[in-house]
Amino acid sequence: MIEIKDVHKSFGPLEVLKGINLTVASGEVVTIIGGSGSGKSTLLTCINGLEPINSGSIRIDGVEVHAKGTDINKLRQKVGIVFQQWNAFPHLTVLENVMLAPRKVLGMARQQAEEIAVKQLTHVGLSDKLGVYPSRLSGGQQQRMAIARALAMSPAVMLFDEVTSALDPQLVGEVLDTLKMLADEGMTMICVTHEMTFARDVSDRVAFFHQGVMAEIGTPDQIFGAPHHPETQRFLSSTR
Ligand code: ADP
Ligand code: MG
Repeated sequence: MIEIKDVHKSFGPLEVLKGINLTVASGEVVTIIGGSGSGKSTLLTCINGLEPINSGSIRIDGVEVHAKGTDINKLRQKVGIVFQQWNAFPHLTVLENVMLAPRKVLGMARQQAEEIAVKQLTHVGLSDKLGVYPSRLSGGQQQRMAIARALAMSPAVMLFDEVTSALDPQLVGEVLDTLKMLADEGMTMICVTHEMTFARDVSDRVAFFHQGVMAEIGTPDQIFGAPHHPETQRFLSSTR
């Protein structure tokens, strides 16, 4: 579903991704862990075409993301991305916020967009918040709204970048439960996270990033139980 081959990415003189290789199968959940500045977010923004790459290739469902002929807007519909924080439109209700992209980007009729938005908001447990304004939602509810908004575009792949990092500890669980539900339903996912318990329980594979290199990738049992790379060992002992 996602094929990343020898991807190099620099910001000016700073090489942030130094030859990343990663293949994610349909329905697979890959978690990326690693220290701050190791290139995790940059990889996600390259995968959905928000950032250009310097060399290598990224394919999603057979489509080359950075090829000249690729319709990047069409491709982004296939790749949902949720960040640490999403600033919803404050003057629109939760329902209207989730309807927006299907209406504007897909040109969907109001009724159909509304049906999809209701379905996805219900899916993430927000069916009682449809007519509410985003400022009335807790941080955890706002993140679930952001997930519903991405799902409303029927993506083939979902990317999550530290979606629980800005939340109060007591709100983290509800968002992780939503991610776990999507994983159980067979969504293809790449999750950047600091939540090691989540990484261990939900991932098919865990990748450890260090200074722009994927130093190690393996099953959760291997990475958490018997990490090969000294930097992985160091990182994991610092998070315990
Ligand atoms: P992580 O998500 O693992 O913390 P990032 O991918 O955000 O790391 O950043 C990797 C490196 O790239 C950091 O040194 C960061 O400062 C740098 N960087 C990220 N985005 C930009 C940008 N738009 N311009 C310049 N440097 C950037
Ligand atoms: Mg980041």
